[in-house]
Amino acid sequence: MKHTFDRLRLSSVHRSFANAEGEQVAALKGLDLDIERGEFIALLGPSGCGKSTALNCIAGLQPLTGGEIWLDDQRIDVLPPEKRGFGMVFQNYALFPHMSVLDNVGFGLKMRGMGKSEIERRARAALQLVQLVGHESKLPGQLSGGQQQRVAIARAIVIEPPVVLMDEPLSNLDTKLRIEMRAEIRRIHGGLDRATIYVTHDQDEALSMADRIVVMREGVVQQVASPKEVYCRPKNLHVARFMGYRNVLPCTLERAAGEAVEVSAGGVPLVGTPMEALESKSAMIAIRPDDLVRAEAGTPNAFGVHVDVVEYGGRDSLLLVSAPFGKMWARVEGEFVQGERVTLAISRERALVYRPEAAS
Ligand code: ATP
Repeated sequence: MKHTFDRLRLSSVHRSFANAEGEQVAALKGLDLDIERGEFIALLGPSGCGKSTALNCIAGLQPLTGGEIWLDDQRIDVLPPEKRGFGMVFQNYALFPHMSVLDNVGFGLKMRGMGKSEIERRARAALQLVQLVGHESKLPGQLSGGQQQRVAIARAIVIEPPVVLMDEPLSNLDTKLRIEMRAEIRRIHGGLDRATIYVTHDQDEALSMADRIVVMREGVVQQVASPKEVYCRPKNLHVARFMGYRNVLPCTLERAAGEAVEVSAGGVPLVGTPMEALESKSAMIAIRPDDLVRAEAGTPNAFGVHVDVVEYGGRDSLLLVSAPFGKMWARVEGEFVQGERVTLAISRERALVYRPEAAS
């Protein structure tokens, strides 16, 4: 078992399952991915897109139906999970309820035949890293959810795996603890110089934790990029929708102008940023509710709207408005009343223009 590596490479990984009718249905359709040592990678996508399948294929818990996985110059998809030696953390912690915290953490080392004092030394060091010193002799049931998940993380890292795989590890925790644990997991990752591959369907989690995000849909990678890139420049409409570009409206292409593109939407001229090659006059414009701002009439990229619904949000309000080109959501600072007419504007950089859905 390798403790360190430079690159984990997934090459054209396929995984199919037989459905009830006995037909093969593909959960992963040719996954290519290079992961460097030290990286924190999030696999992000809606339920059923193949995230857990990808993680299980990397761990060796499921065989591939095509493709290869390499750890540097060693092909590992042919190895059983214990030979790969990756650490795994699951949503449900999967701790042994009748074993102490220390014994839970040391279990993997015991299975490897390590001596008692060395197991204890390493298990204590792992518990120190996850900040659970003082809890060694407790049973898992005596710990909070967040503490139990930290035990699970200590157990995964104590074997000094080259790669730690985490499948929605925070889903069972309440919101406050989830947010605390994000930072905690990042901190633990930072102390390891290994790779972490983290499965989540939560955009905020992926954005706040990952060095790179792999956005998946129906077994196919849509985009691999930094959190900022995925957030600000989603590669296609599917990624845009998933990343919170809630307003996706049809428009007509008028003129390409360097890095900008002029479109009209419901008769309103708008300047946006083209995100892919636009091959016909018909296009879609994608806008995040938070990127709309209140503006004076006559401002570039401004349009008048009728406020249909107001959801008070303290500092800002979430509005459902009728614009000349359709209904849209806007999260705007200040207070509003239903029935009011206001002018909203969007900057050119934040109005993203894509090909229509069927063609993308
Ligand atoms: P979730 O977030 O809901 O866990 P996911 O993105 O992790 O979803 P997977 O669990 O990888 O998705 O599932 C991908 C596809 O493969 C789904 O269509 C699922 O129904 C199918 N699938 C997964 N495991 C099996 C299995 N053991 N037998 C048959 N089909 C499966």
